[in-house]
Amino acid sequence: MTSTAEPALESLRAHLSGTVLTAGDPGYDAARSVWNGEIDRRPAVVVRPAGAADVAAALAYAREAALDVSVRGGGHNFGGAAVVAGGLCLDLSSLDAISVDPAARTARCGGGVTWARLDAATQEHALAVPGGTVSHTGVGGLTLGGGFGWLTGKHGLSCDNLLSAEVVTADGEVLRASADEHPDLFWALRGGGGNFGVVTEFEFRLHPVGPLVHLGLFFWGLEDGAAALRQAREVLGTLPAEMGVLVAGLNAPPAPFVPAEHHFRPGYALLIAGFAGEEQHAGAVRTARSGPAPLFEFVSPIPYVELQRMLDDAAPWGILGYEKAVYADGFSDEVIEVIADFLPRKASPMSIMPIFALRGAFTEVDDAATAFGGPRRPGLVVNLAALAAEPAPFAVDRAWVREFWTALAPFAANPGGYVNFMAEYEEDRVRTSYGPEKYARLARIKARYDPRNVFHHNANIPPAK
Ligand code: FAD
Repeated sequence: MTSTAEPALESLRAHLSGTVLTAGDPGYDAARSVWNGEIDRRPAVVVRPAGAADVAAALAYAREAALDVSVRGGGHNFGGAAVVAGGLCLDLSSLDAISVDPAARTARCGGGVTWARLDAATQEHALAVPGGTVSHTGVGGLTLGGGFGWLTGKHGLSCDNLLSAEVVTADGEVLRASADEHPDLFWALRGGGGNFGVVTEFEFRLHPVGPLVHLGLFFWGLEDGAAALRQAREVLGTLPAEMGVLVAGLNAPPAPFVPAEHHFRPGYALLIAGFAGEEQHAGAVRTARSGPAPLFEFVSPIPYVELQRMLDDAAPWGILGYEKAVYADGFSDEVIEVIADFLPRKASPMSIMPIFALRGAFTEVDDAATAFGGPRRPGLVVNLAALAAEPAPFAVDRAWVREFWTALAPFAANPGGYVNFMAEYEEDRVRTSYGPEKYARLARIKARYDPRNVFHHNANIPPAK
């Protein structure tokens, strides 16, 4: 059967240097798959562009054919924002070029690159862009929404280290956004998500990191929950702000550094990453050990790229996933009580509660300098993630996340939460996340660069009227 869209599709194919895939084409199923195994959407067309001109042509085609548009970076948004049923998916995995200028300490990468690839390229020069904590996530979505990771305390968010971006707007215009060119767009891209256009290239500032860094991992059982969290509070209060800190509620992995009797045991991990000398790290390790005795610990220098992929298997591609998050000002007694009450109730051994510490360089960036919504003061992002291979425990833990979140919300610094940790985009939460002033400014910028709200499969900010 020939659809009316086919002649136009043939013309699109002819105009593109990249690839066009429809159902039945080899590669179509891989291109429409995303990290969350719960998402199974069938776009009418997938376009893998070869560059900005292809993106513009695809957007023009979508407009003519009245197709909804989604943009796929690394495909890690929990809600599957990267794929749209019956629409056009711009799969940026084809935009994977990376170039590093070690002398200028800058790196450029395509809009579909993953952190694993960017880290590998920058670490050849012992340099890094502050990224996330799981290396198979995309640079695109993570940076545009903010980007927390091991280097947040030392060098700020991923978006704080963005120098410029090549952007294709909804009307197919190719712009460069930086402090000097389209500064309003540049401001919006640093935290405002995928609302403003398709970023075909990111340019980042690089920092000397590694190649070896210092890891300290301490694990306590559930029975020590409240004491372990109080110890984490103590450590956070004394550790130099440039050290990376992650507190996680999780089951111990069957890793070589975990004694066999503790494999899969639920509990709490405190992870510290030192980027300075051994002495500083030894001091931090002493502080971490000063409280209740952990069940096991792992203290060792490791390559920075290993640190970056240490949690990869905790959240593997294809798992069923659901998440919610809150910002908290710290481990108050109330927050500790809620966590110690709820964590033991998870059903799936894979469900995880990573808590990111916001300190140091993150807090030194002026709140008005970027669109990023979270409060720029010391605090925590408490992420609650239901992860399971099977639907039954997944359903139980999805409900667990919602109840857990509801119990934490009264103690939240910003109940809207982080836009990159939203499996469902509730408009009021997106609005709350940015606050009224930033939200209104973002809506005005949206009206300028995407007045028809073409890019709405995201933490959407509708254009101001
Ligand atoms: P996608 O699903 O491809 O995209 C997400 C959104 O961004 C979509 O709306 C998409 O349209 C838009 N987008 C992506 N690329 C572009 C582009 N080039 N141009 C325009 N729009 C684009 N976040 C953290 O801050 N720190 C972490 O440590 C962290 N760890 C995570 C670990 C896992 C396992 C997962 C699943 C998520 C994690 N996140 C983390 C959240 C992560 O930041 C978001 O899921 C983010 O959306 C991932 O980006 P992506 O490009 O992979 O996703």
